[in-house]
Amino acid sequence: MTRVITETTIPSAAIVAWMSEINVAVQRHRDHLTQLDAAIGDGDHGTNMARGFAAVQTTLTGQGDDLLPGQLLILCGKTLVATVGGASGPLWGTAFRHAGRAVGAATELDGPLLVDALDAALAGITGLGRASVGDATIVDALDPAARALRSAVQAGAPLSQAAGAAAGAAEDGCKATIPLQARKGRASYLGERSIGHQDPGATSTALILRALETALSR
Ligand code: ADP
Ligand code: MG
Repeated sequence: MTRVITETTIPSAAIVAWMSEINVAVQRHRDHLTQLDAAIGDGDHGTNMARGFAAVQTTLTGQGDDLLPGQLLILCGKTLVATVGGASGPLWGTAFRHAGRAVGAATELDGPLLVDALDAALAGITGLGRASVGDATIVDALDPAARALRSAVQAGAPLSQAAGAAAGAAEDGCKATIPLQARKGRASYLGERSIGHQDPGATSTALILRALETALSR
C-alpha cells in the first residue's frame, strides 16, 4: 500500500523519496559541481556525488522497503562511504550515519527529530573534518541550514516549509563561500587563490537540503 507523506511526519517512504530527489539533483548538477571543483580542487566533486547517490538509489531500491527511517539513513551513509573516494564520501557518509543513529528506532520523524537528525549530521561532519563556519566547506551551508530548520520547527512551520527554510539558508551559506579563503580540504592548498570561488561541497549541500524540501512537498 502506498503510504501518504503528511506535512507533520517523515515516514520511511519520505526518506527514500529524499534520497531519490538528491540523486536527481546531483546527476543534474554533476557538471557544475565538477567545474566548481576543477577551479579550486581536483575536479571530481560532481562525479563523486553522482556516483555515491546513484549507488544509494540502487541500494534503497533493493532493500529500502522494510527499513525504519534511521536504518535507511545509516544504509545511505554506509553506501556513500563504500562508493565515494574523496573527502565528500566519508564526510557525508558519517553525516547520514550519525543522523540515522540520532533518530533511533522512530517509525516516523517529526519536526524535533528532523532537527536532531540534521544537528547530528553536522556534528558528524565537524567531528571528522574539523571545519568551522567560514572555512569554505560543507559546514558553511549545513550549519546555517540546521539553525534555520530548528527556528522554523520551533515556530511551528510545516515540515516542508521548515525544509525550505533550511535549503534557503544553505543556498545563502553556499554563496557566502565565494569571498572566503578555503581553510580545509584540497582548496586550502591554494591559499588566497581560493578566494572568489564558490565551494563545491557547500554547493552540493544546498542541493541535498533543497531535495528534502522537494521530497516533503510532494
Ligand atoms: P576531494 O576534495 O577529496 O576531491 P570532493 O571533491 O568530493 O573531495 O569534495 C570536496 C569538498 O569537500 C569541498 O568543496 C568541501 O566542501 C568539502 N570538504 C573538504 N574537506 C572538508 C572538511 N574538513 N570539512 C568539511 N568539508 C570538507
Ligand atoms: Mg575533489
